[in-house]
Amino acid sequence: SAKLYIVATPLGNIGDITYRAIEILQQVDLIAAEDTRHSGKLLSYYQISKPTFALHDHNERQRGSILIEKIKAGESVALISDAGTPLISDPGYHLVNECREAGVDVVPVPGACAAITALSAAGLPSDRFSFEGFLPVKEKAKTEKLTSLSEETQTMIFYESPRRMLDTVKHIVDIMGSDRKLVVARELTKMFESFYVLPAGEMLEWLASDTNHVRGEFVLMVAGASKEQEGLSVEAIKTLTLLKKELP
Ligand code: SAM
Repeated sequence: SAKLYIVATPLGNIGDITYRAIEILQQVDLIAAEDTRHSGKLLSYYQISKPTFALHDHNERQRGSILIEKIKAGESVALISDAGTPLISDPGYHLVNECREAGVDVVPVPGACAAITALSAAGLPSDRFSFEGFLPVKEKAKTEKLTSLSEETQTMIFYESPRRMLDTVKHIVDIMGSDRKLVVARELTKMFESFYVLPAGEMLEWLASDTNHVRGEFVLMVAGASKEQEGLSVEAIKTLTLLKKELP
């Protein structure tokens, strides 16, 4: 019977897609994409001409049920997003959930994911990590979220928009202290790919020193709280940070 394939696409470098993904995209009847124009570039590069179907955050629920009907009627569908793995800070959750409930087969076709790509070359502990996705945009919720993570001992991985990088690192300095180790992975797999490894305080200075430093796409990784910081309140960390500044 027809299936829903969840197909990972490149993060930037057009070569980062698997042979199997290309085969599946060539075989399916319909390709559901977040932005059909954006995905059109990838599909035409690989000479895949298939009907596309727009499925984004705002219409996922209604459009998803249309897709499920199509699959039940025998059409196989591939879901792709603008970059990387669908559902990972991208649309698709409701669709996959409803397919599972409706007994429709869902087949993952793995590939790139910015979080895993960043972690694999960051040099931070990778045995345990938590994927945090995008932080809340609103000030209060953002502060609360970071405060709740301040004693987390696993490596934390965040997605962040270039517009909010500076503000987010500012919050991290205030809440987790200026010594907390950060790794910023910028423009992964692209021409200007770079990794920056600095304590939060210095990362903030570096980002603030030039508007070019906050251009591009970013994965922000935060080292877990050290044993020394574990159990310390946010207030205690702030005090420690202030004291350290005063020391010679
Ligand atoms: N589904 C994607 C995945 O598998 O990683 C993530 C989609 S999410 C809407 C987009 C965010 O992923 C960006 O804001 C950025 O934080 C991160 N990202 C995507 N591509 C990236 C790249 N080439 N370099 C750095 N970060 C990237």
